[in-house]
Amino acid sequence: MIRPRRLASGVELFPAQTPTLPPATHTNSYALGKTDVVLVEPATPYEDEQRAWLQWARSLPSQGRRPIAILLTHHHVDHVGGTDVLSRELSLPLWAHAETFARLDPSFVRGRELRDGDTVVLGDDRWEVMHTPGHAPGHVCLLNAETGTLVVGDMVASVGTILIATADHGDMGVYLEQLERLNLAKSRLALPAHGDPIDDPSATFLRYIQHRGMREQKVVSALQSHPGATVSELVSRAYDDTPAHIWPIAAISLEAHLAKLIKEGRARVDGERYWSMNK
Ligand SMILES: [Zn+2]
Repeated sequence: MIRPRRLASGVELFPAQTPTLPPATHTNSYALGKTDVVLVEPATPYEDEQRAWLQWARSLPSQGRRPIAILLTHHHVDHVGGTDVLSRELSLPLWAHAETFARLDPSFVRGRELRDGDTVVLGDDRWEVMHTPGHAPGHVCLLNAETGTLVVGDMVASVGTILIATADHGDMGVYLEQLERLNLAKSRLALPAHGDPIDDPSATFLRYIQHRGMREQKVVSALQSHPGATVSELVSRAYDDTPAHIWPIAAISLEAHLAKLIKEGRARVDGERYWSMNK
């Protein structure tokens, strides 16, 4: 793997190994800015990978680029594993949404609190903060409207799938709304936390929205044909197009679909059993 990878003037990609969801093995960090630089995702908890990451960050000033902050897209374990070491070694403040700060180790010093609509000014570059909850409550994306570049964190990925976990404050309905919103931003290049850059973001957002819509239909059908079924009874039916070894993970997504249907009055739950409300 060649790293860092220069994607555009003032945009560099540095993937580092993390304990993420297979088949993904790495989380991408990005250096944004031609003069002042923000480093996105202090993700890796592994010492050798942290050393390589620090070497990369410390090489930026020789190109006239000065790191000024470390930015977290959200609080998940495969995005924050190096937060403590990397920010301390580089003496850089942490930038994140309040909902992300609230889920970090309280010993971390809060730097700038990012809000929806904020502008991050990096030399001549302007990045708009988009608060995009659903996958995680404090998830933020960054949009450079001039170049059409959109840092998407875990909203979509080009390797593996994005898990919406109700138990970790995920919300399927909110997630889908935010995907629609990202699609309206008309970006030309999406930079995900896992996998290669995405050069047709709109097709990707729409594919994700369609795929979740298809899955919801299968969940509704499974509920209608098996009234009072449990999650483990529903998963083999709603995910009958996927191999059985992924059903334990699929059950997490299934719960998020069920929570959305309940919220919309289209399903109800009693204990561990679910019913369709025939709407
Ligand atoms: Zn995540």
